[in-house]
Amino acid sequence: MSVWAILVAAGRGERLGLDRPKAFAKLGDEPLLAEPVRRLDACPWVDGIVLVAPLGWEEPAILVAEEEGCGKVRACVTGGETRSDSVRAGLAEVPPDAVVVLVHDAARPLVSDEVVERVLAPLSEGWDGVVPGLPVGDTLKRVGSDGGVQETVSRDGLWVVQTPQAFAAGRFRDVLASSNSLQATDCAGLVEAAGGRVKVVDGDPRLLKVTSEADLETVAGWR
Ligand code: C5P
Repeated sequence: MSVWAILVAAGRGERLGLDRPKAFAKLGDEPLLAEPVRRLDACPWVDGIVLVAPLGWEEPAILVAEEEGCGKVRACVTGGETRSDSVRAGLAEVPPDAVVVLVHDAARPLVSDEVVERVLAPLSEGWDGVVPGLPVGDTLKRVGSDGGVQETVSRDGLWVVQTPQAFAAGRFRDVLASSNSLQATDCAGLVEAAGGRVKVVDGDPRLLKVTSEADLETVAGWR
């Protein structure tokens, strides 16, 4: 079974307020991108990696992978305007004989072999996609623009979903090809919209998505 990972790192990361894209923010003393690319490269379940870099940052992204000695990185492409566009750009570089496509956010640096194994396993049971998630533990409220609570939403059956997300490659290609203009904040959303069956397995709190300076410090501390 050939498993290819698309590592999407083409976000601008404006909320960090840096002079560079989020993938090149400092995590400890190296660029954030170094951590997830090194981890995916070392993962025994992953056969090849496609990097998706921000426009103008393709060379620095390749350099990071080279410096980390990541031999599984086979291509680096320019990302698109949205995350879905970036995934499409990456998928174009995944070879036709790939059986599974794994999509991972570079903004979640601490990807582990265990979570990769958990998302891969149910694909052999016929699921089209498998995503890691955490059950919602807090109380949820819908809040209006004036700050007033409109309703308390039941958290029953609600999960926060993370990456890496695994997909049967053939189905994933069909879905992305037939939904060219469709956008979703995660890939599973595209597969669901096309009627695909997606399963949620246990995620990992350490797969926190870096959106602020404080998140960078938290993740650096967990390494
Ligand atoms: O900003 P967002 O939370 O959607 O980012 C999730 C991941 O998708 C990040 O790793 C980011 O680099 C990536 N992304 C991308 N291309 C975009 C937007 C986000 O590769 N146009």
